[in-house]
Amino acid sequence: MSIDFSVDPEFAEHLAWMRRFVDDEIEPLHLFYDEMTDASWKRATAPLKQQVKDRGLWACHLDPELGGQGYGQVKLALMHEILGRVTRAPEIFGNQAPDSGNGELIAIGATDEQKDRWLWPLLRGDITSSFSLTEPHFSGSDPTMINTRAVRDGDEYVINGHKWFASNAAKADFVLVMAVTNPDNPPHKAASFFVVPRDTPGMRIHRNVFTMHHPYPGHFRSGGHAEIFFEDCRIPADHRIGAEGDGFLLAQKRLSGGRIHHAMRWVGQCQKAFDLMCERAVSRQTKGQLLIEKQMIQELIADSSAEIRALRLMALHSAWVWDTEGGSLARIEIAELKYWGAQVLGNVIDRAIQVHGALGWTTDLPLAEMYVMARQMRIADGADEVHKSFVATKRAKAYTPVEGWPSQHVPTRKAELRERFAEFIDHEMANH
Ligand SMILES: Cc1cc2nc3c(=O)[nH]c(=O)nc-3n(C[C@H](O)[C@H](O)[C@H](O)COP(=O)(O)OP(=O)(O)OC[C@H]3O[C@@H](n4cnc5c(N)ncnc54)[C@H](O)[C@@H]3O)c2cc1C
Repeated sequence: MSIDFSVDPEFAEHLAWMRRFVDDEIEPLHLFYDEMTDASWKRATAPLKQQVKDRGLWACHLDPELGGQGYGQVKLALMHEILGRVTRAPEIFGNQAPDSGNGELIAIGATDEQKDRWLWPLLRGDITSSFSLTEPHFSGSDPTMINTRAVRDGDEYVINGHKWFASNAAKADFVLVMAVTNPDNPPHKAASFFVVPRDTPGMRIHRNVFTMHHPYPGHFRSGGHAEIFFEDCRIPADHRIGAEGDGFLLAQKRLSGGRIHHAMRWVGQCQKAFDLMCERAVSRQTKGQLLIEKQMIQELIADSSAEIRALRLMALHSAWVWDTEGGSLARIEIAELKYWGAQVLGNVIDRAIQVHGALGWTTDLPLAEMYVMARQMRIADGADEVHKSFVATKRAKAYTPVEGWPSQHVPTRKAELRERFAEFIDHEMANH
């Protein structure tokens, strides 16, 4: 087995270019994002997207037959670490959520005709999408509980239900909706996915939900999280992606790889917070000393440094397991990465805020928004507890129950071993 953390020179050059491009081109423009309309942001970013395409780095998460580079998860992870420093950088590289995951789902489940209609335009960045599984009145942690129904009626399906937290739905060209089609099937074979195009009669976007990130009207710049009512919403039967009952299978495939990308973007966010924290610690004086000379501040920095490196290694290792053994064998690693990474992200940003004092609490620095975004990560993409439960259950399967004392019970073991070492023990005892 060889462990090699280097990258090939050609790819290293891509990464170096990405670092410069994100820091010098995207990040400065992003500072004006809140002051731009969607149309002006689109115009301003079009030349940047073109540069990314010219360099062959557009939508790299996809396999070559879908127009990607087939880089594998380790290379993608290293790219996402760089993109993570600026919230909207993934968009400039054609791999922003939820479009990237939706593209993967459609690529797996769709027919050629469906790909022509929705996948290729999505990959080109001509249209945008949303993903709608979660419902307000049933636990999103258990998708077998979803209540939205799609009933076949001739050449159509009729959808009825109530969804929420469909990110970007208010602006998306289509919503990928999960609904129960086969209620009599076993729970994991009961639901299917449907493409519901914007403005389809019966799909009513009720509101964007106010959140910690978007607490007040007028703050919905990035699409928001929509509450949607489906009221006798009719769609042609050929808008179903995959076979009836394949919804859970497709949903699972959609989310796994994206979690590694998320985690590496968190590393990028952590590193940004860490840079701010250290810069402040070596700049700010109190009681005749720089903050960096205070041991409690040193602890904040030291803990953050170790946690970031551990998170980075975990993410790269998960990516490596995926690349060498296959995505399905990386599920435990990815689940660990999800809850552990979200926790580290929150820890590091929280410490960076603390080191800045009142300034950390203001929106004069990017830390406040980063902190709110970090908090959502413990819930979005599956609550941490669900991933922890999965990991604990899977790990525990490797162990066999014992009766009586635990297998490492010292008196019992010594009693069992006494016979094996009898000669040695007798000899040693005799010499004492
Ligand atoms: C910012 C953000 C964006 C989102 N975007 C989307 C989107 O685009 N599309 C979409 O469909 N959904 C989206 N979601 C919804 C998200 O997937 C759900 O919130 C998540 O799956 C949890 O479901 P729930 O909110 O119904 O919480 P519930 O399932 O009701 O869980 C509530 C709490 O119960 C606890 N819990 C749940 N299960 C267990 C368990 N097995 N063991 C122990 N404790 C448990 C956890 O503490 C959990 O936080 C988004 C959520 C957020 C916050």
